[in-house]
Amino acid sequence: DSIANQIAAGEVVQRPASVVKELMENSIDAKASSVQLIIKESGKQLIQVIDNGQGMSPTDARMCFERHATSKIKESADLFNIRTMGFRGEALASIAAVAQVELRTKRAEDELATLIKIEGSDIKTQEFVQSPQGTNLAIKNLFFNVPARRNFLKSNPVEMKHIIEEFQRIALAHPEVQFSLFHNDIEIYNLPEAKLSKRIVDVLDKSYRDQLAQCQIDSSFIKINGYVGNPQTAKKARGEQYFFVNKRFIKSSYLHHAVTGAFESTIPQGSHPFYALFIEIDPSHIDINIHPTKTEIKFDDEKAIYAILRSAVKQAIGVYNL
Ligand code: ADP
Ligand code: MG
Repeated sequence: DSIANQIAAGEVVQRPASVVKELMENSIDAKASSVQLIIKESGKQLIQVIDNGQGMSPTDARMCFERHATSKIKESADLFNIRTMGFRGEALASIAAVAQVELRTKRAEDELATLIKIEGSDIKTQEFVQSPQGTNLAIKNLFFNVPARRNFLKSNPVEMKHIIEEFQRIALAHPEVQFSLFHNDIEIYNLPEAKLSKRIVDVLDKSYRDQLAQCQIDSSFIKINGYVGNPQTAKKARGEQYFFVNKRFIKSSYLHHAVTGAFESTIPQGSHPFYALFIEIDPSHIDINIHPTKTEIKFDDEKAIYAILRSAVKQAIGVYNL
């Protein structure tokens, strides 16, 4: 029912950026090779994601707005073996409870696309239309029916900053995917598919070009790869430090400490080195269920990861002979 959906939405949908994250992750899960994000008024008016992924059948298009109607967990054992970004099956239900939603979706084998319009969890229209393969989801007037939540949103620049952060994290984690971002009809990003090092430069900072040291370690239970910046490009401002675990962006002050420890005296006090490090680990050794927005994580063996990470980074920055 719609009140329960609205309440549950509070957990998943805190702001426009949370919608961006959920929709873009769904496009990745649907194996899209191209994902366009269109924003109007910092997401308060429109958040639209258009992908060329596998699309949905007419039935799934309707079902995807039902709570826990995920297609991604077949049995409870899967909960401990998560390989997709989404797994709870509550994002679209939550979003549809607090916005006006238009979904267009088509699979390769279907002649026509399904168009569904939903407002505050009520399906208003379902019809067949022409549309390319993939999924096109437009989220309009977020929190239109929850004035308290809508009024609580921050200024447009602040909300847009959060959106760009989510976009950047997902773009960094998937350099093999083409992404674009438009805000109020102005192109902010157009990222061709690329190698990781080029994607980092394209997304973050041109001055990182030729200033990235590759970091790679293959141990029996984790793989680490990615890049760390030349200590000389360390910045006064924080923010360009990224950990991804199985391609999912996470925050970990513990692991951050391992990396900055490895930089030691190569960077001036109070400067922050760039890094984007990808940890791959068997999902049965982590717990990503501890936080609904999934930016925190628990490892079985944190200490071992700390040590491996630190030595991987030390080895990587060794190329600078500082
Ligand atoms: P979850 O991602 O946890 O499964 P969501 O509410 O995010 O839950 O999505 C519900 C379901 O809708 C997904 O499991 C998937 O089957 C379908 N879906 C959502 N977005 C897309 C998309 N862009 N392309 C194809 N299928 C999608
Ligand atoms: Mg999802």
